[in-house]
Amino acid sequence: MTASHTVSILGVPVHAVTAAEALALVERFMTEPRLHQIATVNPEFVMAAQQDPEFRRILNAADLCLPDGIGLLYAARRLGRRLPERVPGSAFVYQMAERAAARDWPLFLLGAAPGVAEAAAGVLCNRYPGLCVVGTYAGSPDPAENEAIVRRINDSGAALLFVAYGAPKQDKWIDRNRTALMTVRVAVGVGGSLDFITGRAVRAPQWMQDAGLEWLHRLYKEPWRWRRMLALPRFALKVLFSKG
Ligand code: UDP
Repeated sequence: MTASHTVSILGVPVHAVTAAEALALVERFMTEPRLHQIATVNPEFVMAAQQDPEFRRILNAADLCLPDGIGLLYAARRLGRRLPERVPGSAFVYQMAERAAARDWPLFLLGAAPGVAEAAAGVLCNRYPGLCVVGTYAGSPDPAENEAIVRRINDSGAALLFVAYGAPKQDKWIDRNRTALMTVRVAVGVGGSLDFITGRAVRAPQWMQDAGLEWLHRLYKEPWRWRRMLALPRFALKVLFSKG
């Protein structure tokens, strides 16, 4: 970890930052000549990391773990710590794109279903004139495709990279390629954000987000997630019975 202070939640670090502070860190990362990895941590990540030592190691080595998930704020409080606010990855991608337009950071969008990254690039370029999207590609997190994808990104000269392969695949993909990606300074696992940007998926209404009920909206829209979402009550119980 290279950034400000963290709260450790069941062995997973979460940075105590606001969105504005996180953006300031991205600015700093851009000036340092190496790849910086950003993860958007939520309770599902924390529970997956309990069973997956490689994922846990990657999150511990990441330069910034954003508190994406209201459950993390409750968990921190229970541990006698404080996370200042929720920083949802799906909102932070817009802020990063806006800053990329202002600072001329070339952006590459990797992942999601075919056509989605291109459509998301169109939406972002419309919204932030001057934004330079140097590449979009669905590809696949399959190791067989690794080399060709890395070559594509290196040829593009991207400084900012969004990887939309879902967790933990996207975070493992970034970790695996952190030294091979020559021009990327900041790589972010963005989950379903490209689907949200294009309108293929719709975020919960603001009142539900404010009430900490975004998970309920997701369950309603994507009921096949129910098994994965069992991680939420398991997370709550584990935090409740953990020794702070
Ligand atoms: N995805 C992909 N290839 C894969 C698995 C997932 O491109 O092998 C994409 C999927 O199309 C979606 C994104 O990864 O756009 C995130 O998926 P999900 O919503 O499951 O991730 P989460 O945000 O819950 O981590």
